[in-house]
Amino acid sequence: MKRRQFVGGLAAAATLSACAQDAADCGGDGAISRQTFEWSCVTSWPPKFPGLGMAPENLAARVEAASAGRLKIKIYGGGELVPPFEVFDAVSRGTVEMGHGASYYHKGKVDAAQFFTAIPFGMTNLELNAWLYYGGGMALWHELYAPFNLVPFPTGNTGVQMGGWFNKEINSVNDLKGLKMRIPGLGGEVLRRAGGTPVTLPGSEIFTALQTGAIDATEWVGPYNDASFGLHKAARYYYYPGWQEPGPGLETIINRDAWNSLPADLQEIVSTTCQAITTDMAAEYTNGNAVSLQQLKKDPNIELRRFPPEVLGLLRTIAQDVVDELMASDPAAAKIGEAYFEYLDIVSENSRIAERAYLNTRES
Ligand code: CA
Repeated sequence: MKRRQFVGGLAAAATLSACAQDAADCGGDGAISRQTFEWSCVTSWPPKFPGLGMAPENLAARVEAASAGRLKIKIYGGGELVPPFEVFDAVSRGTVEMGHGASYYHKGKVDAAQFFTAIPFGMTNLELNAWLYYGGGMALWHELYAPFNLVPFPTGNTGVQMGGWFNKEINSVNDLKGLKMRIPGLGGEVLRRAGGTPVTLPGSEIFTALQTGAIDATEWVGPYNDASFGLHKAARYYYYPGWQEPGPGLETIINRDAWNSLPADLQEIVSTTCQAITTDMAAEYTNGNAVSLQQLKKDPNIELRRFPPEVLGLLRTIAQDVVDELMASDPAAAKIGEAYFEYLDIVSENSRIAERAYLNTRES
């Protein structure tokens, strides 16, 4: 081994530029590099928020342990270093090396990215990850982010969300008219066309907006996360299912220069750990939602309700128009959208005779 590599192991931290100057230190010769890295990761979540905010914390802890401390990642909650919705720009510019959030927050900058989080009435968690890892989705995602000097990795998925908390009953499509609701992305546009007023707020501002009546309703995630915000103390009706986000995937984004500076084994540790977090979060949310739902059902002030079929039918029709227009507005969205729906056709057929048929049988 080169002397430089021993020195690197003793140093508290070497800089990215030192690594870039010496390819051998980056593992190019097959030896394990002693180069150490200290990264910052900004997020769109309240600091250490259950599930969403803990996912990057868990990622950082696992990467540090798996790399024997060679890659340390410090996590910043939304607003601690940059605002929650400016993660994309901060990582793209190289202000920080890494970010964690959801790709649909980049609506307006890179509209096609919404396909990698959630499409109303689109893919579930299992289906989305099947597309990303085995159906060609990841290559499209990498291509989409390349001009922004970003490398994306799927990192977590909340599973099917809830429709949200409402202070007004939704008995018919007329009840959507004038409804002021926190609902981001494509789901928000669907609500707008159904006569409502969509609002985008970061998670940290939702409870107060709902409690003060600034909004009539909000979607957030599901029982596990919604209970953490105390949303059940600010609204009476809890509607399902979460048509707007049937299995939203979360993302880690890494500045390409920072990514390229990592030796191959650290790159493998990062990408594998991101995948592990996705699996872990599915288990965490299934458990967290189940336990929280039982607690919420004991509260006499809460009514759990399913959206009327008429309402879901209208929202579904509008959602198809909204997604068609998104695809017509942008060549990248057209290309990714066509691949998405082609895959959805294939994968939903299997879901119908597997998950859905089984669950229907078990419940009957
Ligand atoms: Ca949501």
